[in-house]
Amino acid sequence: MQPFPPLGRPVAHRGQTCGYSPEDTEATDCTTDATWHIMWTPDGDAGFACEPHMAQARARFVFVDSHHVGPDCGMPGSRWDHDRKTCRYPDEPPALSATATQATPAGRRR
Ligand SMILES: [Zn+2]
Ligand SMILES: [Zn+2]
Repeated sequence: MQPFPPLGRPVAHRGQTCGYSPEDTEATDCTTDATWHIMWTPDGDAGFACEPHMAQARARFVFVDSHHVGPDCGMPGSRWDHDRKTCRYPDEPPALSATATQATPAGRRR
């Protein structure tokens, strides 16, 4: 008996582009690949920014938290981890952790 096949998750997610959009000009939005993930509000409104626009955001705005963009940033279901400064899935099945750097010994640890 096989359970439902794991859906996996797209790793080549292309939604991590800078979300900068100038409010006072018609200039084109920035479409650079983001290097920063920013949580703007405690409600969880998050966005992406490239390096120059992150610097601009730091200078002009107050925001809740930020971290370097990781593979799970912006993915549905991933959660902002304030302690680890990253985005991750709440309960990531070991089968999907093929890219994890730490080797998990056989058996469950939690
Ligand atoms: Zn930008
Ligand atoms: Zn993130």
